[in-house]
Amino acid sequence: MTTQLNADLHCHSVVSDGTLTPEALAARARGNGVELWALTDHDEVGGLQRARDAAHAEGMQYLTGVEISITFLNQTVHIVGLGFDADNETLRQGLRQTRGGRKERAMEMSDGLAKVGIQGAYEGALKFVGNPELISRTHFARFLVESGVCRETNEVFRKYLTEGKPGFVPHRWATLKDAVTWITGAGGMAVIAHPARYKFTPNEEFALFTEFKGYGGQGVEVVTGSHSVPEYQIYAETAKEFGLAASRGSDFHSPDESHTELGTLPALPSGLTPVWELLSSRIQ
Ligand code: AMP
Ligand code: MN
Ligand code: MN
Ligand code: MN
Repeated sequence: MTTQLNADLHCHSVVSDGTLTPEALAARARGNGVELWALTDHDEVGGLQRARDAAHAEGMQYLTGVEISITFLNQTVHIVGLGFDADNETLRQGLRQTRGGRKERAMEMSDGLAKVGIQGAYEGALKFVGNPELISRTHFARFLVESGVCRETNEVFRKYLTEGKPGFVPHRWATLKDAVTWITGAGGMAVIAHPARYKFTPNEEFALFTEFKGYGGQGVEVVTGSHSVPEYQIYAETAKEFGLAASRGSDFHSPDESHTELGTLPALPSGLTPVWELLSSRIQ
């Protein structure tokens, strides 16, 4: 039996809500034995040139990557794109549009937090932002930890940044159809990110997978830092049921916050088609 390639196809840099540079991530991935790597910043491809250069300097194979925020049945869902042409103008324009509105949303989040006595959260969060177009809830979480309101970012999300909580502002992202067609139109593969994270009913989840396939989506994350071990098996079955290729990625954000280290996840369960087998011609 051959061992599976050590691929890590999901992580974040300072270009979105990670705390490391693309170069530091590449070095860390290589240090952990990663052979094929993708940087998947939220709604942004601005770090990909650096990521590719760093991957090659470290001797890793590389795929372009992105994680697009969409709204499906009133929930935020993430669609990962892999192996696309990062210069594709329709994709870049779509991502620009998706990033738009984050600033206004952040100011509303700050107003919500001010009402429960947390002042200056917008300015505070901005100190943690590496890309001014990409202020995210993660940056607010870091500010609330720094200012001692909470002990860790998970606690901030639970108490302040999720639905019904004072700093939560509902936001309409791209549509599923848009995200999938931007990615496939640029020659890449669309992948449903961490499906176990969503709070869909079985019928709603079926609709997500069915529509995703209908628009040309081809993959689903099975082994991810955002899934528990039993969830690997559940979504391995879903991948087979829908005829989707399977992806593997840590969703690493920060050495201080991420519980899953780059490149250290278990292999994909057997009987699945790894996304990288379908993307071999897109590997750089
Ligand atoms: P945004 O795109 O601004 O809505 O922020 C979403 C980001 O927040 C995700 O990409 C995660 O990095 C982070 N996040 C979401 N939920 C949690 C949570 N419960 N604990 C820690 N981080 C979270
Ligand atoms: Mn994130
Ligand atoms: Mn995600
Ligand atoms: Mn992610």
